[in-house]
Amino acid sequence: TAATVAAAPEDPLFGLMKAYREDPSDKKVDLGIGAYRDNNAKPWILPVVKKADNAIHNDPNLNHEYLSIGGLADFTSAAQKLIVGADSAAIKDKRICSLQTISGTGAVHLGGLFLSKFHPQKPTIYLSNPTWANHNQIFTNVNLPIAKYPYFHASTKGLDFEGMMQTLTTAPEGSIILLHACAHNPTGVDPTQDQWKQIAAVMRARSHFPFFDTAYQGFASGDLARDAWAIRYFVEQGFELCVAQSFAKNFGLYGERTGAFHFVSAPGPDAAASSANIASQLAILQRSEISNPPAYGARIASRVLNDPVLFAEWEDDLRTMSGRILEMRAGLRERLEKRGTPGDWSHITSQIGMFSFTGLTEAQVLTLREKWHVYMTKNGRISMAGLNTHNIDYFAEAVDSVVRG
Ligand code: PMP
Repeated sequence: TAATVAAAPEDPLFGLMKAYREDPSDKKVDLGIGAYRDNNAKPWILPVVKKADNAIHNDPNLNHEYLSIGGLADFTSAAQKLIVGADSAAIKDKRICSLQTISGTGAVHLGGLFLSKFHPQKPTIYLSNPTWANHNQIFTNVNLPIAKYPYFHASTKGLDFEGMMQTLTTAPEGSIILLHACAHNPTGVDPTQDQWKQIAAVMRARSHFPFFDTAYQGFASGDLARDAWAIRYFVEQGFELCVAQSFAKNFGLYGERTGAFHFVSAPGPDAAASSANIASQLAILQRSEISNPPAYGARIASRVLNDPVLFAEWEDDLRTMSGRILEMRAGLRERLEKRGTPGDWSHITSQIGMFSFTGLTEAQVLTLREKWHVYMTKNGRISMAGLNTHNIDYFAEAVDSVVRG
């Protein structure tokens, strides 16, 4: 077989990171990274995570035994409350089953695998155009048919709401619709609450199944409830749905692979029983894929989520990260407008979360890289976390120069 395996193309994002590392210029700017950086372009360990980490190191009762197949129960129950709200009827009715996963990626995969195996029709999953590139690979790997719904409007650099609604209306009944809960990756464009209500109404009318991916709760706006609003609304409306939840960004636990998958059954007399059945099947899938999830990150998140004092400190840390990003958004827009850089730059501040879809063309992105040592993906996406008070003037000058040509 060895001779029949051709080389795979390089992952574009990892290729970009390599090119950045190898660039000797002291002016270089990394706007490709999908991780938070502080004002000195350094990784930031959340103070509350450091605290929880120290407590774990000093806990004489901890060991390196396996977790159960579903993961750390204190973690999954807290993760559940965090995403649907502690007072959710779905929790009271025991209609949610939750498993700890290999971060958000593992949760998306487990959900895809479950739907591929157990959905009687194996329907098409609709992904936003564009979406996080890994969605395509993950759902292809579990053999779910994939289609796209319009999402980004190139001229307004906002949501193509009409296009999205049109596809949701014409998609075959009972399709799976993947929705980014907040801070859409890569565009930074989210529906308004009123638009979410209309999306829910058409999905209800067409019996579509919502598959939420949430990787930025609290990181986007600094407000945990606000960033979970869409999911909570759909749950309140009585949808059967699932959620892939990542704690990579909002806890800065990237490499610790901390996440959860939740399946919410629709209300009804059999809901708790069918939820228990689903949990049992998910456990078998999990067992064959990873046996049991990693303990370390879940222990950290669990300590913080279950302790009101630490929880409040975490909210402060979230505001530190989201606040710095919001400042960079305002600062970049202001600088471009002050220079009179051709074009409308209001989308820089109306988009939300880690990323911004600048509207820069592939040719401009290339010039930025070759002439200015500024690294971003060729679709013009920048990570706002890569900007700081030391490089924002330089970046604005670079953008101004390439836009003027
Ligand atoms: N979904 C989306 C939309 C994301 O942006 C990310 C992070 N890049 C993830 C899922 C999952 O990342 P992780 O596996 O690191 O939690």
